[in-house]
Amino acid sequence: MSELVPPHGGKGLICCLLEGAGLESEKKKANGLKKLEISPRAKGDLIMMGIGGFSPLDGFMTKLDWKGVCEDFLMADGTFWPVPVTLDTNDESVKVGDEVALVHEGEIYATMKITEKYEMTEADKRWECEKVYKGEGEDSQGDFMAKALEDHPGVQMVMAQGKYNLAGPVRVLSEGDYPTKYADVYQRPAEARRIFEERGWKEVAALQLRNPMHRSHEHLAKIAVDVCDGVYIHSLVGNLKPGDIPAEVRVKCIDALVKGYFVEDKVVQGGYPLDMRYAGPREGLLHATFRQNYGVSRMIIGRDHAGVGDFYGMFEAQTIFDKIPYAADVCPMPGKALICTPLKIDWTFYCHKCDGMASLRTCPHGKDDRVLLSGTKLRKGLSEGTEIPDHFGREEVLEILREYYAGLTEKVEIKTHKAADGQ
Ligand SMILES: [Zn+2]
Repeated sequence: MSELVPPHGGKGLICCLLEGAGLESEKKKANGLKKLEISPRAKGDLIMMGIGGFSPLDGFMTKLDWKGVCEDFLMADGTFWPVPVTLDTNDESVKVGDEVALVHEGEIYATMKITEKYEMTEADKRWECEKVYKGEGEDSQGDFMAKALEDHPGVQMVMAQGKYNLAGPVRVLSEGDYPTKYADVYQRPAEARRIFEERGWKEVAALQLRNPMHRSHEHLAKIAVDVCDGVYIHSLVGNLKPGDIPAEVRVKCIDALVKGYFVEDKVVQGGYPLDMRYAGPREGLLHATFRQNYGVSRMIIGRDHAGVGDFYGMFEAQTIFDKIPYAADVCPMPGKALICTPLKIDWTFYCHKCDGMASLRTCPHGKDDRVLLSGTKLRKGLSEGTEIPDHFGREEVLEILREYYAGLTEKVEIKTHKAADGQ
């Protein structure tokens, strides 16, 4: 009997990925179906539904689900879910009852039986953006949509979606190139659970990473090891924005850190196949939701988790956990509420006066005593070849990063914003 936290939704792991003979015959059928081109985001969502990462979802959301999720974090049946998982199209010809093949860059990822087709007007999309993406940061004040249309990749994606959303159950046919390209780190939830169980872990914390791992991340992971049975260092291996560091480089950095600075059997490294949604605090909730499916009971949420520009408050991704419905409130069945809880940690850094890693809660010293550098500023420094301050990153990691930047032929300009300045 597993002592790990159960998958979200109370129905066990729901995996829509077909295997064996069923997969072969569905693939044959899919070739003859009408093909619908899908976004990279939908591709990631499909793979997650395939491997059980999005349990209990087994298809794209209906209008009622979409509305409930945007408004109250609840699907029509009362299951907690933090962000819309919808499939958009401009195709006028598809109709309810059709079966279609969902295609991305020439590969069929799934078949889907359309049970609902609903219009998404400009006003609907704007409403979704206001509900899901608007935060408490400076850029969310005043005319949020005007600023977001210019600078918020999450909002830009929603506003660029098609005129309709399609809902219905899916049968997933492919995990794309994740199992081969990221063979060392790509994990299905069942595989991660098995590893945790073999180690006898019960309380597992996850550290979400989309940037290279530095001293502050190392510190967060070690706090987690101290208070839980182990830490799952879980990297995004889907698409990022230009200027971000590719997954294979980040994975190498984590390997170097784990090897040199961790008790190895207290750490598991894994990768998951999603793109960033750039949904700020709501994305923090999504991270906790799908981590629960991986067997994780504590989600490390630090400063500006999944932040975008200055749209969100520095700790909004922590406080949002206090505002969502839990079992005792609206979720009618305990399994439908989120069980994974946040491990809230303040901003961490190296402090010269403390002579060690510290956080805003433990260090009484001033800005000048602390080594403060955000991932964004660091990337800027590395890409422009300037010195990185002592104690910011481990030398082994910086070496890997310098080598990566030296090999780049095209330099991407990295915009910094206030959140990156350490103010
Ligand atoms: Zn200090």
